[in-house]
Amino acid sequence: MTLPRRPARTVLVSTIILTLILPPAAWAKTPVATGSGGAVATISEPASKAALAILNQGGNAVDAAVAAAATLGVTDPFSCGIGGGGFMVIYLAKDKRVITIDHRETAPASFTPTVFQQDGKEMDFDTVVASGMSVGVPGTVRGWHEALDRYGSMSFKQVLAPAIAVASSGFTVNANFSRLVEESRAKFNMFPDTAALYLRNGKAIQPGSTLRNPGMAKAYRELAAGGVKVFYEGKIGRAVVDAVNQPRVASGVHVRAGQMTMADLANYEARLRQPVHSTYRGYDLYGMPLPSSGGIAIAEALNILEGYDLKAMPKDKAEHLYLEASRLAFADRNAYLADPEYVEAPVAGLLSKDYAARRRELINPDQASVQAPAGDPYPFQNDPSVPLRPNANKLLAEGAHTTHLTVSDKDGNIVAYTYTIESWGGSGIVVPGYGFLLNNEMTDFDFSGPAPNVPEAGKRPRSSMSPTLAFKNGKPAFSIGSPGGATIITTVLQTIFNYVDLGMSMPDALNAPRLSERNGPATDVEPGFAGTAQAVALEKRGQHWNKPQEIGAANALVFNPDGTVTAVSEGHRHGAGSALVQKSAH
Ligand code: GLU
Repeated sequence: MTLPRRPARTVLVSTIILTLILPPAAWAKTPVATGSGGAVATISEPASKAALAILNQGGNAVDAAVAAAATLGVTDPFSCGIGGGGFMVIYLAKDKRVITIDHRETAPASFTPTVFQQDGKEMDFDTVVASGMSVGVPGTVRGWHEALDRYGSMSFKQVLAPAIAVASSGFTVNANFSRLVEESRAKFNMFPDTAALYLRNGKAIQPGSTLRNPGMAKAYRELAAGGVKVFYEGKIGRAVVDAVNQPRVASGVHVRAGQMTMADLANYEARLRQPVHSTYRGYDLYGMPLPSSGGIAIAEALNILEGYDLKAMPKDKAEHLYLEASRLAFADRNAYLADPEYVEAPVAGLLSKDYAARRRELINPDQASVQAPAGDPYPFQNDPSVPLRPNANKLLAEGAHTTHLTVSDKDGNIVAYTYTIESWGGSGIVVPGYGFLLNNEMTDFDFSGPAPNVPEAGKRPRSSMSPTLAFKNGKPAFSIGSPGGATIITTVLQTIFNYVDLGMSMPDALNAPRLSERNGPATDVEPGFAGTAQAVALEKRGQHWNKPQEIGAANALVFNPDGTVTAVSEGHRHGAGSALVQKSAH
């Protein structure tokens, strides 16, 4: 059993002090906006403003989501961008239909199951991250293209305009941005194109500085002029392949090269997939299907929780059950889930309410369990012939970040969109001349078998991204999503539990201290949690905690009964977010 190999992220001392002194409700004010027309919540003000500008120009939620995402690529380049991939869940109000666009990065054709092994042993994780080997064929541009082409109303040129403006004229670096550069300084210093962009004399760019990214503006301009082909068959693609296969490194630095070809790029396809549909206490939930494990794991945990009258019990007992349900869902997620085009995962069994009832029997309401084995969903699958019965049950190295955004429009369309380059700063490789970072998504594969999530040519590594839409009586109720590697699943699950079962408002549900149980030896918690009455009560039931770290950076929309919409973003995590509506109710 291994814990995430990445060290816990540094947490600002001021945050720790604040959270120790003040109860959660007094944490920095969560950005909330209520009104009518369209709404947007992202972690970045320029990105939310970009979405609003597009909505005000008559664009729909899909147009606005791409505009926000492109802007996040400039202002949050360490979390996301055109060098990565993502998952978009779209509600089309006119058709009353939810569709998803999987534009996850894909392994180049050169990949084999032993690509991350040397002399029969797994390679060092961080060495693989900062290399050309970790880079998957980026899916973002293809995903945006499919979204705009099929469901949008505007061109690349129109929706990229706000991001081009921010990249060209620059934005003010905040403390969070500077801290992220500082944390990645060693990685960024390995690659001169990256160092030139984000470091000043070898040190992190300081808060208050203006950062321009002419290379990224150029990439977006070329996309605006030439469309998707510029990336997958043209100049940008060539630059990506060169950067992967021959990364430009500082003198004395050696990194492993990747093996990506122009054919890998030309063959890349986004996939339109049916969402994972589940129900929870009268809500219909639509989440991301495989290759993201998010929708399935959240549904399984909620199915387990549905068997308890959580509202009627003390909060610590309900939270204990939340942790135990999450543990069991993670045991199954780790054992069974991977790219559905390579692995026949027992999805129907995992989603079955009867299977959840069987899993529920394993929970002791008064005593935490120790790492749980995977269950046997096959009898609940209606397909007992499926051969794969893996027993792998290990915690994978998970990236810490990504970004999530959500947009609705005046016609009722909704987009929940999570996208990423995997670790902070991805592989650390900025594509020369184009100012965007390449992902390290291939490290989301297991480095060795027999787990289903082993690397293979053309395969997409299992993800945890969980953009989720909830409906009640056929009408939109809320959207929710977050970054945070495998903690994405628990952040979305816990926010739903807080909102639906603990009766919190969405801002409180989002702001509450996060607990992330992923079937490890202990639960991840946030700074300030240990020692609280809530923590002590859970410890009495046998729960215990890892070293604290900030978890996630969620955004949500709530569709109110009076027809207004409330956009909610983070109040204190990741430097705080931005929530805007077209017509404010106040
Ligand atoms: N690579 C992660 C995933 O797909 C996301 C990265 C993160 O949020 O840390 O699940």
